[in-house]
Amino acid sequence: MSTKEKSAAEKLKEKLAYKQKNSWDALSDDEYQEAMAICEEYKEFLSLAKTERESVDYFINKCKEKGFSPLDELQNENRLKPGAKFYINNRNKALIIGIVGQKAITEGVRVIGSHLDAPRLDLKPSPLYESNNLVLLNTHYYGGVKKYQWVTIPLALHGRVVLGDGTYKDIVIGEDPADPVFTITDLLPHLSKDQMQKKLAEAITGEGLNILAGSKPYPDKEVKERVKLAVLQKLNEEYGIVEEDFISAELEVVPAGPARDLGFDRSMVIGYGQDDRICAFTSWKAMETIENPVYTPLCLLADKEEIGSTGNTGMASRFLLDAADVLASAQGIDINPGRIMAVSQALSSDVSAAIDPNYEEVMDKMNSPVLGNGVLLTKYTGSGGKYTANDAHAEFVGAIRKLFNEAGVIWQTGELGKVDQGGGGTIAAFLANLGMDVIDCGPALLSMHAPYEVASKVDIYMTMKGYRAFFENNDPFNIY
Ligand code: MN
Ligand code: MN
Repeated sequence: MSTKEKSAAEKLKEKLAYKQKNSWDALSDDEYQEAMAICEEYKEFLSLAKTERESVDYFINKCKEKGFSPLDELQNENRLKPGAKFYINNRNKALIIGIVGQKAITEGVRVIGSHLDAPRLDLKPSPLYESNNLVLLNTHYYGGVKKYQWVTIPLALHGRVVLGDGTYKDIVIGEDPADPVFTITDLLPHLSKDQMQKKLAEAITGEGLNILAGSKPYPDKEVKERVKLAVLQKLNEEYGIVEEDFISAELEVVPAGPARDLGFDRSMVIGYGQDDRICAFTSWKAMETIENPVYTPLCLLADKEEIGSTGNTGMASRFLLDAADVLASAQGIDINPGRIMAVSQALSSDVSAAIDPNYEEVMDKMNSPVLGNGVLLTKYTGSGGKYTANDAHAEFVGAIRKLFNEAGVIWQTGELGKVDQGGGGTIAAFLANLGMDVIDCGPALLSMHAPYEVASKVDIYMTMKGYRAFFENNDPFNIY
């Protein structure tokens, strides 16, 4: 700090001009310790929960540890009273975690909504085939993937196989250091003359994303497709699976290995599936410490955001409305749940893209998030002329801005890239369709949607701090 007196102009600038803050500068010693501890837990979560199902399992276990019970259990025992901690499991792929507020649910709920699904490669219903002494697995990619990023990296297989007798097997292969892994091969440079002339989007095709899964033949030389038979035998011995079982399976191919610290200074986390498990995790961390809230806080963990929020576990379904309905009737209130939504507010907790020094040209520097500058408030997403955007109303943006400033949350704002460069969406528009006020709010990542995404540890902390402030806000919601 210079001892020199600030000039009048400097003082005026400080008072009038908007300046972004680096969150590292704003952390107290205690906050720093808390942030680092939370990130250790976050890496464990990322390493363990690589699918929607595994994420739901993880959070249900955490819920049980912290005294949350299934909603129907509380309802049956007539214990769904203010302060009661509950969760609603939607088909092991989506989850609502909440605490009954002191105020009646007709006063609205406070929702933080994220998603548990992430871009990946799903096995096709009939995936297994043999070619040139090798066994491969056909895949169908899920969500927005840049296909060339998925070749020549170690891959793991996670998922559920429902067997012919109706029982199921959960499978994880490739995460234990003693496990084998899988991979998708790529051409050597020596023979890539044609491939190298292709566009990035076309050089690796969807049908070309085949997983290498075996090469050792069954001993009997008379039988055809000996390598495939040997793999089927292995699968049967270890998991009781026959080939038809793949048809009733959901097997997801994801990058193998744990999330790790990134950088000399360990200031960042690199790992798979941070879009959007980073928000699922931080919203849970915000929920975990709440006792007897005034308004009912809901941690909403949705599925299928990456493919348009479709399906009965996606945000376009009635999942949240039905939950509100159940909570209302438990309080003896007979009301159209849409009317609860109309007085509710939500943070659509999802990630955005931080400005990348390697690709500055796709961003509008005035409106791009910077890694380390705190949790991001995004007024609107969409593409082109804001198509399909939930454009948060100024009053709601103002309310959240005021809340964060008063709580000492370091936050920033930004758009997802330049106006005509592309765009994207979140569950915000679906929450808004239900009648809630919604704004997108989450950390910015580097390499978003890549097999290994990058987040800033201090942004993870500020996101959690912002979510906590939102859940703990006891002010009535009258901003219009
Ligand atoms: Mn997302
Ligand atoms: Mn995404």
